[in-house]
Amino acid sequence: MADDQASLRAPGDGEAAPVATDAPPRAAAAEGPVRAPSGTKDVLSPESARWMDLVARFARRATLAGFGLALTPLFEEARLFHRGIGDENDVVSKEMYEFTDRGGRAMALRPEGTAPIVRAFVQHHPPVPWKAWYVTPAFRYERPQAGRYRQHHQLGVEVLGTDDADLDVEVIALAAGFYEELGLQRVELSVNSMGCAEDRPRYLAALRAFLEEHEGELCDEHRQRWRANPLRVLDCKRPQCRAVTEQAPKMVDHLDEACAGHFARVRRGLDALGIVHRLEPRLVRGLDYYTRTTFEFAATALEAAQNAVGGGGRYNGLAEAIGGDPTPGIGFGIGIERLLLACDAEGVFAVEAPVPQVFVVDLTGGEQARDIVAELRRAGIFAERAYDNRSAKAQLRLADRSGATLALIVGEKELAAGTVRRKPLRFGGDELDIPRDTLVAEMRLMFDPSLGPQPRKGSS
Ligand SMILES: [Zn+2]
Ligand SMILES: [Zn+2]
Repeated sequence: MADDQASLRAPGDGEAAPVATDAPPRAAAAEGPVRAPSGTKDVLSPESARWMDLVARFARRATLAGFGLALTPLFEEARLFHRGIGDENDVVSKEMYEFTDRGGRAMALRPEGTAPIVRAFVQHHPPVPWKAWYVTPAFRYERPQAGRYRQHHQLGVEVLGTDDADLDVEVIALAAGFYEELGLQRVELSVNSMGCAEDRPRYLAALRAFLEEHEGELCDEHRQRWRANPLRVLDCKRPQCRAVTEQAPKMVDHLDEACAGHFARVRRGLDALGIVHRLEPRLVRGLDYYTRTTFEFAATALEAAQNAVGGGGRYNGLAEAIGGDPTPGIGFGIGIERLLLACDAEGVFAVEAPVPQVFVVDLTGGEQARDIVAELRRAGIFAERAYDNRSAKAQLRLADRSGATLALIVGEKELAAGTVRRKPLRFGGDELDIPRDTLVAEMRLMFDPSLGPQPRKGSS
């Protein structure tokens, strides 16, 4: 794919310009209807109502904690991720959605949320501490399989410019509070410290010595490959490696005084806020720029192999790795699809799409409905109507199916009298006529618009 994109490049300065191709015009109809690309998924209403609510709740929490929304491009120069995530990482070496653009540049669709935010920080040098939150699609070119998408979605936060341990606590508390708000009960927090550049070599030496001794007991893959990156053995979920690494030396026993003090303060802070957590010495990240606090939230209602619903940590070396000044940073990312699976598994956060408050039934040709829904919507009321001049029976059936609380009916008789017939569709009550003049005011009294459209209650 990359190559034929490049061949479409315009002559001259290399900037993209509309270019005609030699390909003959295709008869789209002959190929059948266009479908979403393999490994992607459409999210439509009513399911998308959950997404709206999820993002709104996250946005509110992030805003209350001083985070501002950061919108960065979906594609970046590929070298950002080669440097910022590392070529040894599978996400970059095997799965990144890379392409050459018409200008011949190596680009990539973002595989995750952190590197672009740090790139934006380095580029714009905003005042620190800089707190940013994001919601974004993330792309991985991998073989589509159950529960794995080429485009999935992430929520997250990043903070640049301070190493204060209290901020680690704040960031973890933000995620923990979010899971709680969704109603999740079975989310477990693991924490660890990766120390600093001085601690790491001492620890790796101890780990290597240990793995050398137990080489024969490791899983097939790691018996061959543990030397390349011994930290990855700690991450291995296969039972052979799990059994060996149970006894492996722990990073936390190899921290210098400053890193040990930092981690102790983080843990005290979590305790003080009542955030239950467990030290997991095998929770590590392979790259050098990850430092100090690292953490992961696991939804135990999901299968263990794929139950991480969020994680993050400090990356005090990342800004430098992508060409900026050394700047401490910390953040976390949450995969939205996985998080919603966890909600399903626990039977929580079942958001339904908002339904109309009133449904206008116009038996006089549609102009009354046109005007009334406009007035009601202006007043903050969720008003719906039928179209195409349907029969009275058809309109009333649509009104009923819409889930609206009330139908407002205008027939020839009401039009002549200057009234609207109010017919309750849910929760009982009498039909009555309301003067057309006071209709909007009455509806405002009935449906407090400051509360916004309410989800469907009672009967479905
Ligand atoms: Zn240290
Ligand atoms: Zn293994």
